[in-house]
Amino acid sequence: MRRFPRSRILVPAVLALSCLAAACAERRAETPPPPGPAWSLAIHGGAGTIRRVDLDGQQEQDYRAALATALQTGGDILEAGGSSLDAVEAVIRFMEDSPLFNAGRGAVFTAEGANELDASIMDGRDRDAGAVAGVRTVRHPITAARRVMDASPHVMLSGAGADAFAAAQGVEQADPAWFRTEARWQSHLRAKARADSTAAADHPDRKHGTVGCVARDRDGHLAAGTSTGGMTLKRWGRVGDAPIIGAGTWADDRTCAVSATGHGEYFIRNVVAYDIAALMEYRGVSLQAAADSVIHGKLTPQGATGGVVALDRDGRAVMVFNTEGMYRGSLTAGGAPQVSIYGPDLPD
Ligand code: ASP
Repeated sequence: MRRFPRSRILVPAVLALSCLAAACAERRAETPPPPGPAWSLAIHGGAGTIRRVDLDGQQEQDYRAALATALQTGGDILEAGGSSLDAVEAVIRFMEDSPLFNAGRGAVFTAEGANELDASIMDGRDRDAGAVAGVRTVRHPITAARRVMDASPHVMLSGAGADAFAAAQGVEQADPAWFRTEARWQSHLRAKARADSTAAADHPDRKHGTVGCVARDRDGHLAAGTSTGGMTLKRWGRVGDAPIIGAGTWADDRTCAVSATGHGEYFIRNVVAYDIAALMEYRGVSLQAAADSVIHGKLTPQGATGGVVALDRDGRAVMVFNTEGMYRGSLTAGGAPQVSIYGPDLPD
């Protein structure tokens, strides 16, 4: 019987097996991850001492309705194939016009009794960004921030210069009276009266707030935006985290989109929004793990209060906060608006 040399049998067999293994590995690598929603959206309307006892039935209903309408406003844009940037801007414009939230109309007052507004927006495609700080005459600070991004070579403009830029760009102007609501003014007077009291820091009249939105569109692009009146009784042109890219707002298609709310000084010092993205990028952790680690692992031990809403690159929403409540909500393609106010341990 003719005998083949061993190598003439073994070599082709080994080659065939390795081709098979390579094909299997390739197929495994090609297996797509479970599909995320076609588009998604998450919002916040500020975090703080929000307890059931602080809101009567009507107020709670008003907040829930405003959050649901804000989500629907963005959802309609994303459903029609609009961009995440357009959705973020439209949602925040709606929330800035609502007297319920500390942004645009209904903003808190400075120590001098004025409204000074901060906002920022970021494009996850290329990390383009725009921001305004301390504006007084722009009806929609988020739109002014978008104009800074789209129509100027800068990232952040402040004070009278930012107001002048927005006016020159045709961004809608508003009289200072537009921003003032009676409820917020009364709260300002009470906060002023208590300013020297030791209980002042914890009193509901000192509560801050902010609005924010993160979105992922049908093309998979992320965007984030944040807008605020800042902190009650702020002075000396104080600027919080909301207009600071990386602190209150961040978007990068490779990792996540984040909008923050809380005690801005801590969010600036901890570079909160970017830190969450950096943990994902450098450590490969999930958005939930990254947000938990920054809010609960870093901020809480420092005595800093607040939270974030965020989306990962597949559009999964995460909402993390260390306060009693955070006005918040999410919406994905084909779903209904999900709205919550109180903490996770208190069923809404
Ligand atoms: N972060 C805002 C600020 O410090 C306030 C807030 O979100 O409550 O200006």
